Amino acid sequence: MRAVVIGGGVMGCASALELASRGVRDVVVLERSVPGAEASSAAGGILGAQVEARNPRELDAFVAAREMHEAWASELRELTGIDVGFRRCGILTIARNDEELAALGREVAAQRERGIEAATLTGERGAREIEPEVGACRGAAWFARDGQVDPPRLLRALVAACADAGVTIRAGTTVSRVVMRGERCAGVELDGQEELEADVTVLAAGSWSSLVPGVPSPVPRVRPVRGQMVELDQRPPRLRRIVFGGHTYVVPRGDGRVVAGSTMEEVGHRREVTAGGVSDILGGALANVPSLRAAELVRTWCNFRPCPEGDVELVGPSGVAGLVLATGHHRNGILLARATALAVADAALAAT
Ligand SMILES: Cc1cc2nc3c(=O)[nH]c(=O)nc-3n(C[C@H](O)[C@H](O)[C@H](O)COP(=O)(O)OP(=O)(O)OC[C@H]3O[C@@H](n4cnc5c(N)ncnc54)[C@H](O)[C@@H]3O)c2cc1C
Repeated sequence: MRAVVIGGGVMGCASALELASRGVRDVVVLERSVPGAEASSAAGGILGAQVEARNPRELDAFVAAREMHEAWASELRELTGIDVGFRRCGILTIARNDEELAALGREVAAQRERGIEAATLTGERGAREIEPEVGACRGAAWFARDGQVDPPRLLRALVAACADAGVTIRAGTTVSRVVMRGERCAGVELDGQEELEADVTVLAAGSWSSLVPGVPSPVPRVRPVRGQMVELDQRPPRLRRIVFGGHTYVVPRGDGRVVAGSTMEEVGHRREVTAGGVSDILGGALANVPSLRAAELVRTWCNFRPCPEGDVELVGPSGVAGLVLATGHHRNGILLARATALAVADAALAAT
């Protein structure tokens, strides 16, 4: 059986690794740039199951996906020697006014009713017992089991593990067409030249998934949502918890690096870090954690979240024979990577 994977981001690499580890001999990842070139290495790496879920269905799925990361990190370290930076550092979401605090209180109560660990902290003093560095606030919600990984390291580990498992990674190779034979997806065309036949084709092209020519029309569309990011260096490190507040989050990596984000912009694939974007992120970050004012501004970047049109899930069977989906994860692709890889492998093996 041959499986080809379009895209070498976290979805493509994690899916390829899972297929290889289930005994699929011929797995090929096709990446137009280098693996991890795009959203997957640009991400904050927040495993924000409890802060990101918008409804009970997402909450259960996100929590289950988060709980896979600890063992996955150990497995990847054993396979490759690379530490992907998994840390259960918790997320503190601060409320700047009574309305925000009331909304957080309702969210925490709803999660606790489902048996999920969460707490409300009253006043600045309560919030500072968990994270002494937070700025002015009325209180906070505390999600102790949320955490983080370091995305560039996760991608390096996945690529190394894929190579060791016998996955072929073809970097610098653009899929110029999905090839259909009748109603069935039969593989891909590369760089407008070569055709690569496959029993299963996995669409994992992130925010470019709808731009790959030939993707059949029943597959829902994905659009890019730009996010800008800022990396700071705080020496010595003071912040220990991920802090959310307003539209901003700050993620301490534990070694002094602090990643702050992010914007949500509908500007197509315009690859720009803007004055307004950086100003908004820094304004929010310094309000949430005032001591970051003295941190060094190291670098900025942006990339594109793959946002599905409508509230659809684009993971698993596509409805088209031979085509499996691993895309549309929007703000939570790092969180959902391992769970997606398992679902993709299930769908791919069931389809053959
Ligand atoms: C700024 C920012 C912050 C984020 N923070 C978080 C976070 O904290 N936590 C979290 O869980 N998620 C976060 N996300 C979301 C997460 O990064 C994405 O959901 C996830 O990385 C998507 O992975 P992917 O593999 O689908 O896409 P990508 O990583 O974009 O990979 C797609 C790959 O496909 C390749 N490709 C495209 N077209 C073709 C083609 N025709 N032929 C060959 N290759 C092709 C691209 O070059 C690319 O490498 C963030 C995203 C952004 C942008």
